Amino acid sequence: MNTIRVRFAPSPTGFLHIGGARTALFSWLFARHHKGVFVLRIEDTDEKRSTLPAVKAIMEGMSWLGLDWDEGPKIGEQDLEFKGESQGDYGPYFQTQRLDIYRKYAEQLINQKKAYRCYCLPEELEQKRKEASKKGLPPKYDRQCRHLTSREEEKKKEEGKKPVIRFCMPDGGKTEINDLVKGKVVFENSLLDDFVILKSSGVATYNFAVVVDDAMMKISHIIRGDDHLSNTPRQILLYQALGWELPQFAHVPMILGADKTRLSKRHGATALGEYKEKGFLPEAMINYLALLGWSTEDSQQIFSSEELINKFSLDGCGRSSAIFDQDKLLWMNGEYIREMGIDELTEKSFKWLREAGLVNGALNWDKVSAEKKEKIKKAVGLEHEKIKLLSEVPSLVDYMLKEEIEYDSRAVEKTLKKENVIEILESIKDSLKELEDFSISGLEEGVRDFCLKKELKTGKVFHPLRVATSGRMQGPGLFALLEFLGKEKVVKRIEESILLLGGSK
Ligand code: GLU
Ligand code: ZN
Repeated sequence: MNTIRVRFAPSPTGFLHIGGARTALFSWLFARHHKGVFVLRIEDTDEKRSTLPAVKAIMEGMSWLGLDWDEGPKIGEQDLEFKGESQGDYGPYFQTQRLDIYRKYAEQLINQKKAYRCYCLPEELEQKRKEASKKGLPPKYDRQCRHLTSREEEKKKEEGKKPVIRFCMPDGGKTEINDLVKGKVVFENSLLDDFVILKSSGVATYNFAVVVDDAMMKISHIIRGDDHLSNTPRQILLYQALGWELPQFAHVPMILGADKTRLSKRHGATALGEYKEKGFLPEAMINYLALLGWSTEDSQQIFSSEELINKFSLDGCGRSSAIFDQDKLLWMNGEYIREMGIDELTEKSFKWLREAGLVNGALNWDKVSAEKKEKIKKAVGLEHEKIKLLSEVPSLVDYMLKEEIEYDSRAVEKTLKKENVIEILESIKDSLKELEDFSISGLEEGVRDFCLKKELKTGKVFHPLRVATSGRMQGPGLFALLEFLGKEKVVKRIEESILLLGGSK
C-alpha cells in the first residue's frame, strides 16, 4: 500500500483558531494512526493578508498542542531567525516559493487547450456581472476570451493588457466526490464557471495551487472543513485535466457556536493562543477538539493522545456540525487538572503564580526556594479539586501564601458583622493560642470543644473563624486551612479582623 500522506494547509492570515486547530488535529491523528506522513504547508498566496507572525503563531499553536509535522517549515529557532526554510523531500512548503511550479502547469494547460488567457478588465467583468444579474442569470464569466484567435490575442498583448488564466470548465456533465465523511456528493458542471487559476500578477489562486501542491507532495488524503466542499469539484476537474490521480477527500463538518451559527468571536475566544493564556492544558484541548466532529461508538469522553491516535478513524466522523461548548471544555480541563500530580500542577501554574507575585520574583520554578515550593504545593493541594484552569490557581491560594490579606466586603457583611462575633473571635483566639496540637484533628477537637463549652452552634464559630483568617467565605476545609496557616498567622489574622470590626486587640 502507498504511504498515507496528509497535510494541514493553513493560510497565514491570522492566528490558529479553533476550527483550524481541529482540522490540523484530525489530519495529524489520521497520519499518526496510519503511520503515515504529516505535512504542514503554508498557503501564503494571498499577498496582502499573509504575514510571517501569523506563520509563527500557527507553528507555535501546533507545537503547543503537540502536533508535530514531518515535512514543512523548519522548526527550531523560529523566533530568532525564521527565514521560511523548509524540511522534507517535496518542498518548498511555502506556496510563495512555488510560483514557478504553478506557472509551468498553467502553461501546460494552455497548450493542451484546457485553459486560456483572459484579458477582460475587472471593470468589464463587473459590468458583465451586473448585466447578467439584471437578466436573472447566474453571474458566470461569459467565456468571451475562450476562443480568441492568435491575432486577437496579439492585439490585446500589444495594448499592454495583463491576462489572467482561466480553466476551461466542461459544458455539461457532473463531477462526483466520494467523500470519506459526506459520502457521495454530485455537482453539475454547468453551474461552475471558467474560474481563474492564475492571477494577472502571475500568482496562482487557491484552487489551482492546492491541486498542484497536493499532487506534487503526493498527498493521499485531504482532510479539511466542509466549507471547502464547494471548491472540490473544481479541484477534481483540475486533477483530471492534468492527468493526475485523485486523492481521497474527507470534509469534516464546521464547528458552530451554541446558537448554531458558525463559530466566531461572538462565541468567546476563537484563537487557540487565548486558551493557552487562560490556562487550558494542551492535552485537554486536544481531547476536546478531537470530539468536535468525531466520536467512538461507546461515546468515550476522556482520551490520552496515544489513545486518540489508536482509535481515530474517519468512520467516526459525523456528518452534522459540531457545537463548541465552552463549559464542556472547561469541565474537561478540570478533569485533567484533577488527574495531575501536585508537583506537575504547581510547576505548570508557575507563570500565573509569578504574575500574581506569589513566588518572590523568581524567574522560573527552579529558582523558587525549596521551602517556598513546599508551601505553594501544599496550598495548591488544598484546593486541587476545585481548579479548572491554571490561571485560577493564584486566586485560590494567594491568601494562604501572602502575609497580608484583604477582607472580602461581602464576607465581612454576612459573617463578621453579626451580633457577638467580636466576643466569639476574642475567646476562640485565646483558646487557639492555648491549643497545643495545631494539626487538623487537634484543631477540630479544640474548636468543637470550644463550641460545646460556650454552648454555641458550630456555624456560629466556624464561619467567622474562616472569614477572620482567610478574608473570604470559600476555601478548603476549615481545619486544614488553619493547620496550613499555623498558630501565629491564625492568631494574628483573628486580631486583625477584630480591629477591622472596631474591636480592640
Ligand atoms: N488554505 C486553505 C485554508 O486555510 C486550505 C484549504 C485546504 O485544506 O484545501 O482554508
Ligand atoms: Zn476575458
